[in-house]
Amino acid sequence: MDVLGVKALKGLRKGKDAARGARVMVVGTGVTGLACARALPKFGAETIVTDLKGGQSPADIARIEEAGAKFLPLSEAEGVGADALVLSPGIPTDDERLIELKTQAGAWMSEIELAYMLCEGRILAVTGTNGKTTTATLAGRILSDCFDDTRVAGNIGDAFIEAAEGSGPGTVFVIEVSSYQLEGCFNFRPDVAIELNVQPDHLKRHGTMAAYAAAKARLLTRMTESGTAVLNADDMLVAAMAKGTRAGILNYSVERELERGAFLRSGRMILRMGGEEEIIGDAGEMKIKGPHNEGNAIAAAVAARAMGAPAENIRKALKDFEGLKHRIETVGFARGVECVNDSKATNPDSTRAALRMFAGRAVTLIMCGDDKGFDYGGLYEDIEAAGAKVIVMGAGLARVADELEARGAADVARAADMASAVRTGLEMTPEGGALLLSPGSSSFDMYKNYEERGEDFRNEVRLAQ
Ligand code: ADP
Repeated sequence: MDVLGVKALKGLRKGKDAARGARVMVVGTGVTGLACARALPKFGAETIVTDLKGGQSPADIARIEEAGAKFLPLSEAEGVGADALVLSPGIPTDDERLIELKTQAGAWMSEIELAYMLCEGRILAVTGTNGKTTTATLAGRILSDCFDDTRVAGNIGDAFIEAAEGSGPGTVFVIEVSSYQLEGCFNFRPDVAIELNVQPDHLKRHGTMAAYAAAKARLLTRMTESGTAVLNADDMLVAAMAKGTRAGILNYSVERELERGAFLRSGRMILRMGGEEEIIGDAGEMKIKGPHNEGNAIAAAVAARAMGAPAENIRKALKDFEGLKHRIETVGFARGVECVNDSKATNPDSTRAALRMFAGRAVTLIMCGDDKGFDYGGLYEDIEAAGAKVIVMGAGLARVADELEARGAADVARAADMASAVRTGLEMTPEGGALLLSPGSSSFDMYKNYEERGEDFRNEVRLAQ
């Protein structure tokens, strides 16, 4: 089997009809699988969709078949063979149930890899544990101001494969890529790549931090000297990635000035290269706040600059950007307390970033979610340093309340649901303070997704007003 897919997929071309004559088998019937089912027939591919688990509804199957793809249960899909096997990100690449399919296929890959083979144009790719969507959105705003056919896709909205349709040499893609998708990337080579950070998360899947960092570093391995890797110099695991790529390196830092790269000086974003300095933005003008967002914004600015965006477009887009829902979003004031929805904070570092924003103010933090086994030690120290009060909602993270109390924390409360968390939070927080939903874990213990959790908070705040 040609793992790199080069031989098996040599029939693939770029652009229209790029996959005519190829048989592609898609594994998974979630968001990515359905996107592949919709998009691949348009590239001319014979498309077969299967899944490791059964139970697909007739409506799901009808949607797949309407798009011109064919659904086969796993037992029937085994034995069909395909030029390429596309694994949805939720499927561990070493799942034993894939052995048969993998053996019969010419190559296996992620949807990102396949889309890369089919699309035309230039690509800016963004990865990292936290800040991907914010950074990709910002980069997309800047670039769409400069290039007519700019498409933002990947983890963030449309799948890359859907955005790839109808692309041409002038197309500019901004692609948000997760570590799961990178595991199935072998040839994917963005023109410019951003590595934001590697912080503890997804360790059940990746096993260790080293394996997780290695998956993230795959974004850079195929890049050549003509590409640019934008690396966060403030993150040790990211900084170490410079060794593993031939791409030109542009570091950025919000902590110190750099010889070569981008940094802050009195709020200004400076890009220094070859001894020359250029101002590419002004953090003081931005509506999004906090060192983490300054980092995201610098990364987006430098990457957009490397894609050819002029400094004035960068500066304007940074200034106009209002931030995204569910990320440190003020949803309203109740009894003089600012209520902030940061439901997208699904790991300890994102919650720490949020807490930092309220330094010097009375803050009550609502935490909740599945117990993913995180070590919250650093967050507890921040909570203590900030004198923050904590409400733990639901049973998932009950140990957080126990652990905080064992450390001697006095202001810890428990709440069964969002209504009581908000009610208790407003009682605990003095006027002028903040009630911050920044859960520190994912939402699946009580909700469909983080959006539903954030909307529940918004709704309860509205009722309390
Ligand atoms: P992602 O797409 O990687 O999940 P988002 O931009 O959606 O990133 O932000 C997710 C959460 O992480 C939000 O709570 C946000 O406030 C926080 N966050 C954003 N950027 C960073 C960063 N650079 N470091 C730590 N936390 C961050």
